[in-house]
Amino acid sequence: MTDQHPVSRETFDEVMAPNYAPAAMIPVRGEGSRVWDQDGREYIDLAGGIAVNCLGHCHPVLTEALQQQGNQLWHLSNVYTNEPALKLAQQLVDATFAEKVFFANSGAEANEAALKLARRFALENFGEDKDQIISFKDGFHGRTFFTVTVGGQTAYSDGFGPKPGAIEHGVFNDLSSLQALISDRTCAVMVEPLQGEGGVIPATAEFINGVRALCNKHNALLIFDEVQTGVGRTGDLYAYMGTDVVPDILTTAKSLGGGFPIAAMLTTTKIASSLKVGTHGSTYGGNPLACAVASAVLSEVNNETTLSGVAQREQWFRDALEAINQKHHVFAEVRGQGLLLGAVLSEQYQGRARDFLVAAVAEGVMMLVAGANVIRFAPALNIEKADIDEAFARIERAVAAVVNG
Ligand SMILES: *Cc1c(COP(=O)(O)O)cnc(C)c1O
Repeated sequence: MTDQHPVSRETFDEVMAPNYAPAAMIPVRGEGSRVWDQDGREYIDLAGGIAVNCLGHCHPVLTEALQQQGNQLWHLSNVYTNEPALKLAQQLVDATFAEKVFFANSGAEANEAALKLARRFALENFGEDKDQIISFKDGFHGRTFFTVTVGGQTAYSDGFGPKPGAIEHGVFNDLSSLQALISDRTCAVMVEPLQGEGGVIPATAEFINGVRALCNKHNALLIFDEVQTGVGRTGDLYAYMGTDVVPDILTTAKSLGGGFPIAAMLTTTKIASSLKVGTHGSTYGGNPLACAVASAVLSEVNNETTLSGVAQREQWFRDALEAINQKHHVFAEVRGQGLLLGAVLSEQYQGRARDFLVAAVAEGVMMLVAGANVIRFAPALNIEKADIDEAFARIERAVAAVVNG
């Protein structure tokens, strides 16, 4: 059965805005942690759609949830509430510190809501001078103009005209840099418990405890951006559960929908009370299709089997990377937590993460980079041992190809 595809990679250059540079092949089908392209070539997916496909491709429980809801009710807007949204909100409240939930469609939108809420809350409770937002260099919070300005790479926010104001950046894992910036004027501190895009860098316990203490001292809200770390990725349902601190606001997206676009902002009743009727909203936020799928994702992930399986798989990944390194000496270290891991390239291979990525695709493995020096892995939380073994046999060939020029 040959399928004549009327579109090709050239079509991308013809009709798509040029802000992405996708790979040469076009995936057309996925099952578990395997993906097939237009030519029927098979790949092992260790990228997971950038920490999104947490249960792999076309997981039968998620497909069933989507089909059932697809035959029931697709969309209403927030003029009405709906059962899947209420059910999912209840699940999130039961599973976390949160008492209230706001739904959005992407990580950036959930962060936008968190930042707007923090400003509102400060205005209502402390007055208009309390407007400063502090985040950290190399942090990533999305691409809306507010969130990209809060993000810690000016290269992403420059060139779009005047930026939202009262935003300052400290140095991640350097508490003294936050101490120097924070004051009673600070309304919120936004931080990733483990920087993903910034290079797969875990926050130290000392740093995260210190950030919480400084926020308490200055009545600033602590916002955890768990868009990448959330929904089982680190081995806890949310990364904050593996620390000694609880944030005031938490944002979650990516894995929450397992591939269906959805995001949520979680907070307390007291803080949420500043989002009065009409202050914020979204046409699609809380869409029944998205919420039905996310409900199924949460049920599948938030159990001992899946969460303890993440730690087991982390060890398999670390062992496989160590074995490759014994042979080829390409990594300086492997860092990260759970199934969000970064292999940092050694001195000799600085700046060449993309070369390894391209070589891996040629061998049939999908990986990610996090900057020019880090190869990032964010596979499905349920990836099978056989897929990991086969993937690293292929990666070993890819690494050898790069090493041997
Ligand atoms: C991916 C990401 C975002 C942005 O999410 P989008 O769904 O692309 O808007 C925000 N924060 C973190 C930590 C992320 O990894």
